[in-house]
Amino acid sequence: MEHPINILERYWKFSSFKPNQEAIIHSVLDGEDTFALLPTGGGKSLCFQIPALVKEGICIVISPLIALMKDQVQQLNNKGIKAMALTSGISYSELDTLLDNCIYGNYKFLYLSPERLQQELVQDRIRLMNVNLIAVDEAHCISQWGSDFRPAYKNITLLRQLQPSVNVIALTASAKPEVIEDITKELDFIKPKIFKQSFFRPNLAYMVYHENDKYYRIENILRKYKASSIIYVRNRKLTLELSSFLYSKNITATHYHGGLSNDEKNENMTAWINNQKQVMVATNAFGMGIDKPDVKTVIHLNLPESIESYFQEAGRAGRNGDKAFAVILKNNSDSVLVKNQFLSVLPKVGFVKQVYRKLCSYFQISYGEGEYTIHNFDFNTFCKTYNFSSILAYNTLLILDRNSVISLSKQFKNKV
Ligand code: ADP
Ligand code: MG
Repeated sequence: MEHPINILERYWKFSSFKPNQEAIIHSVLDGEDTFALLPTGGGKSLCFQIPALVKEGICIVISPLIALMKDQVQQLNNKGIKAMALTSGISYSELDTLLDNCIYGNYKFLYLSPERLQQELVQDRIRLMNVNLIAVDEAHCISQWGSDFRPAYKNITLLRQLQPSVNVIALTASAKPEVIEDITKELDFIKPKIFKQSFFRPNLAYMVYHENDKYYRIENILRKYKASSIIYVRNRKLTLELSSFLYSKNITATHYHGGLSNDEKNENMTAWINNQKQVMVATNAFGMGIDKPDVKTVIHLNLPESIESYFQEAGRAGRNGDKAFAVILKNNSDSVLVKNQFLSVLPKVGFVKQVYRKLCSYFQISYGEGEYTIHNFDFNTFCKTYNFSSILAYNTLLILDRNSVISLSKQFKNKV
C-alpha cells in the first residue's frame, strides 16, 4: 500500500499535510466511519481523495452542486486521475455507458448528486462497483438546521445498503451541534471517528464598522485593496443595485443569487474567479465550495443571518494565507434592530451582564490597527458551554459590538 504522503507529493506537489488531514486519511484507511469537521479551505477534498487513491476501487462522492463536481473532476483529470460526474442532462444511454465505465473502466471517482442516487439504474450499478469509500461532501446539507438543507440528502444511507462493507466519510465546515447530530444520525454513524478543528483563522481580521453611508465605505475599501472581494447582501435586488453602483464608480463587479439561470450563474462566477471582475455581489446562495485563494475582503452589507453562517461566509477570505479582512457594516437602523431583538431574547439585565462577561473572556478581544480579532472562536464548544442557539449567540456578538467595538471603530474610523 502506497503511503499517503507520496500520493500528496506526486499528484498535488504539496510537501506536507494541513492540520488533521493525515489523521483523517488514516482513519479512513483503517475502515472507520469518519467525520471531518474542518473550516472552509481546510483541505477537506484531499481527506477522501487520497485514501481513494491509496486503495483499489472507486470512491463514490456525494456532492450538492454541479459546479463543485465539475470543478473537482476537472482538477482530478488534470492530474491524470480518472474521475467522472453524473450531471443533469445526460441521456439514459449515456448514463448506462458511464456507469459501465465505473464498473469496468478503472475509474477512481464517481461524483453524483443525492437526487441522482434515487435513480434505480444508478443504484443497480453501484451495487456492482468495487467501491472503496463513500464520501459525503458538504454533509451539513443533510440537516434542517444547516443553511443549505437538501431533502434528498436524507436518502444517502441507501449507499450503505448497496455497499454494506464500505466505510463513509462525512465532510463539512459546519460545527453547529444540531447539524453534527443530524449528520451522525442520518448517515447511520455508530461510532464515528470525529476530527474537529478550531475555526481560528490567524490571517483573518474580523471588523465591524458603524457607517451610515455603507456604499461609500464599500467603495473606499475596494479602492484601497484593489483585490478580489465578495460582498454579501440581504436580497436579490440588492445584488444588482450594488453591482451597478460599483460599475458607475469604475469598479468591476458581477452578481449572483439563487434566481439566476445556470448559465448566468456560471458566467458570472467564472468572470469573478478569473479576476475579470473584481467584486462578486451576492446573496447567501453564493459560496458553498468556492475555492478562490486570493479573496482579500468579504464584506457584509447587511448583518449576517447567524454567527455560523457568518464564519462560513467570512471564511472565504484569505484562503491563500495572506492577510485578509472580514467586514460587517452596520448603521443606526441595524443597531435599533439588534437592540430590539436582543431585549426580547434576554430580558434580564443581570443575565445580560453575565453573558457579556463570559463572552469577553471567551473572545479575548485584542486591539490593533483599528481591528478587533476574535481569537480561537469555536462555535461548537461555545454553544455547548453556554447553551446558546445561534440566534442568541449572534445577538451576543452584537452586544459585544455595542459595548466595545463601536467605540473601537469610531476611534480608528479611517483605518480600513
Ligand atoms: P475545503 O473543501 O475544506 O474548503 P479544499 O479541499 O477545497 O478545502 O482545499 C482548499 C485548498 O487547499 C485547495 O486549493 C487545496 O489544493 C489546498 N490544499 C489542500 N491540502 C493541502 C496541503 N496539504 N498543502 C497545501 N495546500 C493544500
Ligand atoms: Mg470542499
